[in-house]
Amino acid sequence: MIVFSFISILLLAATHLSIEAFSAETPRRSEGKDSAERQRNGYCLMCPPDWIQFERNCYKFNFSRLDWADSERACTGIGANLASVHTKEEYDFLRDTIHQVTGQHTTAWLGGYDATKEGVWLWSDGSHFDFRYWGPGEPNNVEKGTEHCMQMNFRGLNYVNDIPCNFLLASICKKRMEQCVCFR
Ligand code: BGC
Ligand code: CA
Repeated sequence: MIVFSFISILLLAATHLSIEAFSAETPRRSEGKDSAERQRNGYCLMCPPDWIQFERNCYKFNFSRLDWADSERACTGIGANLASVHTKEEYDFLRDTIHQVTGQHTTAWLGGYDATKEGVWLWSDGSHFDFRYWGPGEPNNVEKGTEHCMQMNFRGLNYVNDIPCNFLLASICKKRMEQCVCFR
């Protein structure tokens, strides 16, 4: 009887230990696989602190009222460009974000310009210009033919406008999300 009990205890202990070993092993293995997968699929991306994420990009509102060129320089100094806009969703995100950050529909520079050739609009980040959300009749280049830079929230309105590049406005910078720092 004593021998039987002893064997039972041994068996129980052995089973328990193997379960422990298995459960301790399993999460470690899946964690490793998961992080490798995240890396492979490009999921391990982040925005720096103080930047706001939308899809694969990060955005930062600059309260300093500068001309367009100095606003672009302020963005390139922090690894970004003035924001380009490629979808209605991105445009709506910018309008909402500016409202959240500033408490109103503050007018701000975007990265669009036609200063190098009248009527040929480009984005300062080099992406393809396919923007279709101008205010009605814009861009109209009315200020003595010198409206070569793109502002959003003209007079606080839901209205994108071309104005002279030497106006002093707040602005919005945009950059791609960055790869996370990995410790594994
Ligand atoms: C026009 C804009 C123009 C702006 C210049 C507005 O009245 O609608 O197109 O850019 O004046 O300040
Ligand atoms: Ca205009």
